[in-house]
Amino acid sequence: MKIALVTGGAGGIGKGICARLARDADMVVVADLDPAAAAAEIGPKARPMVLDVSSAASRTAVAAACVEEFGGVDILVNCAGVLEDARIGRLDPALFRRLLAINLLGPLALTRLLLGPMAHRGGGALINIASRAWLGTFGSTAYSTAKGGLVGATRALALEVARQGITANCVAPGFVATRMTDGLPDRIRERTLEAIPVGRAGRPDDVADAVAYLAGASYVTGQVLVVCGGRSIGDPYRQ
Ligand code: NAD
Repeated sequence: MKIALVTGGAGGIGKGICARLARDADMVVVADLDPAAAAAEIGPKARPMVLDVSSAASRTAVAAACVEEFGGVDILVNCAGVLEDARIGRLDPALFRRLLAINLLGPLALTRLLLGPMAHRGGGALINIASRAWLGTFGSTAYSTAKGGLVGATRALALEVARQGITANCVAPGFVATRMTDGLPDRIRERTLEAIPVGRAGRPDDVADAVAYLAGASYVTGQVLVVCGGRSIGDPYRQ
């Protein structure tokens, strides 16, 4: 039995990843605050589990259920995330802590609970959804801190678990049209879209394809796969 777990599995990108992994996996655990409707949409291989990744009790309950029902998971995708941010001078410390809890510390704590059983099953793949913002974007102090931390932790973990047959990688999406980016001001959305060389916003499937690749790539570890339509190369226009 091949089992995958996707946190944030009811969100725009997470649901796309669940649907993609369900093609090859026997079961995909859709772990999110309210996962029932998304799991029903994905189909019979989707198993909803309520998870608040920032809560220790919730993480423990989900990890325990996965171990009890399936003996653990083979693919863990940490995709749950929030984007509420401000420039450093206006950044409320409570908001900073909440963002780190959901985007960095919670995912690492859940990973810690599931890596042992994964090794016991003979290995697997950990894929953390970072962001192009891990390199730093204007006004995103907290989000960039969290995503940069996730990249560093993934690379360190890759070394720790390599001999247990586990790969650890990040996917760093650029702009993907989801509920998260729906809230951006029109001016920023337009400027962002103009700067994407391939000429369109990313789709959840673009990220899901990268995740599916890394889930099966046993000789690729500690890497950041940037999925951004070429935006990280530079400006698409001739000067
Ligand atoms: P989304 O808002 O559609 O989905 C996020 C999901 O995370 C939601 O289903 C939400 O319920 C879940 N979530 C939030 N807090 C949670 C918690 N405490 N516990 C469990 N689940 C929680 O956003 P998305 O665009 O699908 O984002 C998915 C991931 O991709 C995030 O980590 C985000 O940072 C990253 N990302 C998105 C973009 C983009 O342009 N959309 C770009 C780069 C990276």
